[in-house]
Amino acid sequence: MAGYTPMMEQYLAVKAEARDALLFFRLGDFYEMFFEDALTAARELDITLTGRGAGQEERVPMCGVPYHAAEGYIAKLIEKGYKVAICEQVEDPKASKGVVRREIVRIVTPGTVMESRQVGEALNNFIVGVAELDGRFGVSACDLTTGELYVTSFATVREAVKNVLNVYKPVEAVGDPAALAIVEQETRGSGRSVLCTERTSPEDLAWLGRQFPDEPWPHHEEVRRLAVARLIGYLSETQKRSLAHLRTVKAYDPQAYMALDAFTRRNLELTETVRDRSRKGSLLWLLDRTRTAMGARLLKRWIDQPLLDRDAVEQRLEAVEALHRDWMRREELRTELGEVYDLERLVGRIAYGTANARDLNALKASLQRVPAVQSLCREIGSDPLTHLADRLDTCSDISDAIEQAIAEDPPVSVREGGLIRSGFDHKLDELREASRNGKRWIAELERQEREATGIKSLKIGFNKVFGYYLEVTKANLGSLPEGRYERKQTLANAERFVTPELKEKEALILEAEDRMVDLEYETFVRLRDEIAGKIPRLQQLAEGLSALDVLQSFAEVSAERRYTRPEWSCGYEMRIEDGRHPVVEAVTENGVFIANDTELTPESAILLITGPNMAGKSTYMRQVAIISIMAQIGCFVPAKRAELPFIDRIFTRIGAADDLVGGQSTFMVEMKDIQVMTEQATERSLVIIDELGRGTSTDEGMAIAQAVIEYVHHHIKCKALVSTHFHELAHLETSLSSLRNGCMAVKESADGVTFLRKLVPGAADSSYGIYCAQLAGLPDDIVSRAYSLLDGRTSAIRETAAAYSEAPSKPPAAESQQVVQLSMFAESKPDVKPVKPASAAQQKLMEKIRKLDVMRMTPLQALEWLNDAKIQL
Ligand code: ADP
Repeated sequence: MAGYTPMMEQYLAVKAEARDALLFFRLGDFYEMFFEDALTAARELDITLTGRGAGQEERVPMCGVPYHAAEGYIAKLIEKGYKVAICEQVEDPKASKGVVRREIVRIVTPGTVMESRQVGEALNNFIVGVAELDGRFGVSACDLTTGELYVTSFATVREAVKNVLNVYKPVEAVGDPAALAIVEQETRGSGRSVLCTERTSPEDLAWLGRQFPDEPWPHHEEVRRLAVARLIGYLSETQKRSLAHLRTVKAYDPQAYMALDAFTRRNLELTETVRDRSRKGSLLWLLDRTRTAMGARLLKRWIDQPLLDRDAVEQRLEAVEALHRDWMRREELRTELGEVYDLERLVGRIAYGTANARDLNALKASLQRVPAVQSLCREIGSDPLTHLADRLDTCSDISDAIEQAIAEDPPVSVREGGLIRSGFDHKLDELREASRNGKRWIAELERQEREATGIKSLKIGFNKVFGYYLEVTKANLGSLPEGRYERKQTLANAERFVTPELKEKEALILEAEDRMVDLEYETFVRLRDEIAGKIPRLQQLAEGLSALDVLQSFAEVSAERRYTRPEWSCGYEMRIEDGRHPVVEAVTENGVFIANDTELTPESAILLITGPNMAGKSTYMRQVAIISIMAQIGCFVPAKRAELPFIDRIFTRIGAADDLVGGQSTFMVEMKDIQVMTEQATERSLVIIDELGRGTSTDEGMAIAQAVIEYVHHHIKCKALVSTHFHELAHLETSLSSLRNGCMAVKESADGVTFLRKLVPGAADSSYGIYCAQLAGLPDDIVSRAYSLLDGRTSAIRETAAAYSEAPSKPPAAESQQVVQLSMFAESKPDVKPVKPASAAQQKLMEKIRKLDVMRMTPLQALEWLNDAKIQL
């Protein structure tokens, strides 16, 4: 470092502590950046790059931003995925000899921004910690703005990562390199970015003990402990302050919630839409009638994690029913909650020491609502609500303390006085009186001087540079007596003067005001710190109020949209009478949504739905899944009546072309998903497959579709809704005892086709598509040719398929195999003999097919086999 100026040496020493961040180095009224940081910041922030002499021949690159505007620039850099280290002067420049001492006071990162403006009110901002120990994976997640901290663990790293990305949508991750690599891999291409920082330091565990001295850590699994430690170590090191609002660690088992993979969440549009990832149009958007930002955030968490515990769900439903019934009190409750501010974030700011007097007043106003909320809950009179009310701590000591100390309408700044009520502090009142007296004296002086000089426009003013002055317009200067006035400033048409007595009074007033401002600030900070010591109580209150807010939101939307309370079946049965898709119903323009029944029982566990495009198949299938989810989060459901089992996992596979990820074909993605389903689905799961087998040729697609359905039927035995455009598969109803056919009714008339959106038993008329072509005015030749091709193809396939299902454990009969194979080469009529005899390669292939034990193959193996066969042909 030889050769640099002392200031630059200091810069380089500080920079060494924050290599992975852009260093905002405070120099007077600016934050300056140097070297690489300056180049990056100038580019990203579009600000001018300059240079600065630093003791060496070449000037070093430099750029800077004014300190008062820094917040916006920092936010911009964070958004772009950078970390920003803020280095302040930590001693008074006047008091120091040589270079002022400077230190990093905080490192801002995407996961540690505290300004809700940056994060979004209804959104959480999670940072996660990941750890691995003896083959187990721990995951912790923290939102620093609200003080929430969760921890859980998994048996496999990919499962852990997927879960974390699904539920928390973190913006930042810290911890084990291997797990971070998977985080990066999984988020690539998703349009979201997660800033990853490796952390393996053994010191982290020490931070853990300091942050949570009362937590019974030995009761936590070690890998969970480690996951929290990684996070706390990182947060402590970057934030460099007390994290007083991180007090409780909420541990949970992933098995406590319904398993929903990322694809299913997206597909069912639980919290955002598939098309543009917006909240509007999602289930979250529909159900959100919350009145507080914390309620909105909790609602999202509930939707993300439907419960599997019947008692817990019943508690929620019981409360929703009571709130649903008593609409008058619900309305009052909504009004009260509407006056409650974001307690979680207020608490975060109090802990961080960034809350101002207005924040404290907001806290007070919120706390003052609690007694009314409490009595409303008690009056509504249902056990869960009474219980909830009993646990709400009104924190009246806190609101009283704020009421007594803080002025009615304080300024935003806490350094300019005006914060503390008069009568609160004797000393402050004295100083105020002194300043008021001084001002009164000055007003009196103004009157006297006017009288003495006869100048009516003479006035006494104040500015920050010159203090108090007497101002006389140029026209009146002649009337001023000589000698008494000292000239201070000349303006265009006036002169400003001071007198010795005015200066004397000014000193008294300003000193009193300075001391007042200091004293007010000290008093304010003392109160804020006192409240910071009561944070756990405030957090518990926030938790109760948010839960209540979500429950009333459920009641409100249920009442408005005529939802009903679901009942639980003891075993397997699912019976939904007049079920609707809540979101499609809400956005259907003419307002008419056709309700449909669902009955999935051990005797009819699989529903195979056929029907043309746009008939309403996927809406129907999704509605069944969404009804299950709504019930398991404790909301009423869009149905006349619903008797539901607890679903442990919903698995959806919807073959849309826009699912192409990382260059894989839709079909390959579909097959991989199906493979996961075969591994993970249980009897208690719900499987939804839309357009099974669509991504490949008809024959392959149909073969695989049938094999998958049979596998679900024979092995998984779960509830399944499968839609297919292979009408030919309808024959499966005769061979698979618990499969039923259904189709979406369509009315054809001379004027065209009407989709009735009604699910009816039986298979769709397979000629419908051609009928449609006919209606569209295609030439007769094409239409009749299409009909004849269709006839031949379906009869051939039906025969083969029947052969499969009659003897599922044996390879299919040679003859019928031949029919399928031959039909591929058929020219005019599919069921006539082929024109060309089979080649040697084809015969070899047929031989192989004969030997194939299809029933012992997984769908993926079948796919690979088919692919190989295709290559050989
Ligand atoms: P499919 O999957 O058969 O192609 P969709 O389920 O996508 O059909 O439905 C197509 C459109 O029909 C939907 O966008 C929706 O607007 C409307 N729709 C579906 N089901 C219903 C229903 N039950 N009542 C009213 N409109 C419906």
